[in-house]
Amino acid sequence: MNDLAYALALLIAAAVCLVVARLAWTRGDYRGSRPLAVLMLALAWWSVSYGVFWLPVEPEGYFWLDMTYLGVALVPTTLLVFTMHFTGRASEITQRLKVLLAIQPIAMVLMLWTDPWHGLFFGERLPGQGAILTGGILFYGHVAYNYALILFCCVLFFNAYARAKGIYQQQILTILVGISIPFVANAASLSGFQPFPNLDMTPLAFTATGLVLAFALFELGLLDILPVARDAVVEQMADGVLVFDLRNRLVDMNPAAKTLLNLQGDKQIGEEAAQLLKNWPQLIEHLGPSLTSEIQLRITSSPKRTFDVRLLPLRNQVTELSGRMVVVREISKRVRAEKAMDRANRGMKKKLAEIEELQIQLREQAIRDALTGLFNRRYLEESLPRELAKVRRSKEPLSVAMLDIDHFKNFNDRYGHALGDEMLRHLAATMLSHIREGDIVCRYGGEEFVIVLPGASQKIAIQRIDDCRQLFKNSVLEHEDLALYSTFSAGVATFPMDGEETQQLLRQADQALYYAKHNGGDQVAGAAILQT
Ligand code: GH3
Ligand code: MG
Ligand code: MG
Repeated sequence: MNDLAYALALLIAAAVCLVVARLAWTRGDYRGSRPLAVLMLALAWWSVSYGVFWLPVEPEGYFWLDMTYLGVALVPTTLLVFTMHFTGRASEITQRLKVLLAIQPIAMVLMLWTDPWHGLFFGERLPGQGAILTGGILFYGHVAYNYALILFCCVLFFNAYARAKGIYQQQILTILVGISIPFVANAASLSGFQPFPNLDMTPLAFTATGLVLAFALFELGLLDILPVARDAVVEQMADGVLVFDLRNRLVDMNPAAKTLLNLQGDKQIGEEAAQLLKNWPQLIEHLGPSLTSEIQLRITSSPKRTFDVRLLPLRNQVTELSGRMVVVREISKRVRAEKAMDRANRGMKKKLAEIEELQIQLREQAIRDALTGLFNRRYLEESLPRELAKVRRSKEPLSVAMLDIDHFKNFNDRYGHALGDEMLRHLAATMLSHIREGDIVCRYGGEEFVIVLPGASQKIAIQRIDDCRQLFKNSVLEHEDLALYSTFSAGVATFPMDGEETQQLLRQADQALYYAKHNGGDQVAGAAILQT
């Protein structure tokens, strides 16, 4: 055949196909760009051979027309593979499906080459025509199969369209328009519309399809950066990610997982979890077959390393469980920090308890007299107003007794200061043994003491102090071969009759004491007597 214009058009189409094939190939194995590259190569071959067919070259006849089928045979199949990649069904392209898909193109080529023997493929070649327009039964069988495949691609795209959003919908619509071009062209030529006599428009129509697919994939597919970015994130992230299939074989892992779990790397892909994670029994335990919801656990390799692990079920589009993902995050540093913090906290608590204890001791020291262990004057001045406030509310009396040892200077002079101290302690013990709960005994100073008796009237207070006086007088302080005795005098003042305030009551008690001393000592006087 000889028509330079046709030949040129087809060769230009082939060149365009080659450019797009190269472009698609360099985009890497992504969203069907590789199958698209193969598709474009097949189309290029189809156009080239068909173009050569139109050139005045040797060998004449149908050789080059036959050669076009090497490209023709591949187009629908590669289109299907592209469609499956693009619509997220790449995982469904199994080894078996690949074999099944390869049958038809190979069969087609074999049948057309063996046509001279059986004549079932081309049927009757019409002389002077550039395309097969009659065709044999096998030819139409293949045509039917091919268009069925292409229709099936359309179904997959419609399906994807229903699930897609925004710009992805636009992208799929564009692809659908592209795929429909050969149908429209064929329908047109079958209905007698033939602007270029004898020229089979199909390769040109498919070239247009290929261009539209490339446009849709690369120009409208701008958002495809997202999954790429996500892959990059998984590769770069510090958390380890492992993916297992339903039979617990490792399908994928990122570099962090390898480092964190001390794994060997990609050559372990496909290994059973039981073998792969043999050093992590806690993990294997949880990778059982019934994992349908997320599990969080903490595992430790040695005391030094701790990991937080999340196990997630992976589901496919029909929400069937299809595998598991394990996300491992090392938290050793955090755990160490937490432990250090715990230790610091415990230390702090201990210190606080010590400080509290010390404060109690200090407070005790502040309100106690060191020699006798009785309360001191400061405590008296603090507690007496409090006790007065209480009895004021309860309308009860309160008596204050002031005691002073008789002739204590003499005692000291005679027996020494140390024994004087002993006698002070002896008196303190005697008083403590004699007082009631709620009474407050204080060393007021030197050898003077004050006893606060809440609720005691003057009479009762005098009685009780006098009992104490007699007890003390009759009790002996033994020291080596000495038997020491002493006495005290006391004055008692009572709230509210002798005074309502602390100082007034103490003054009145002191005066009563003075009275008792003046009266010869070794006795107890009430302030009431002063009024008489
Ligand atoms: P009076 O019967 O009038 O009370 O005579 P007194 O000697 O007890 O006189 P006064 O109360 O004035 O004397 C207080 C003496 O108590 C003076 C001091 O030697 C003695 N004294 C005071 N504090 C202490 C002490 O802590 N230890 C000892 N051993 N003696 C003390
Ligand atoms: Mg005194
Ligand atoms: Mg005295």
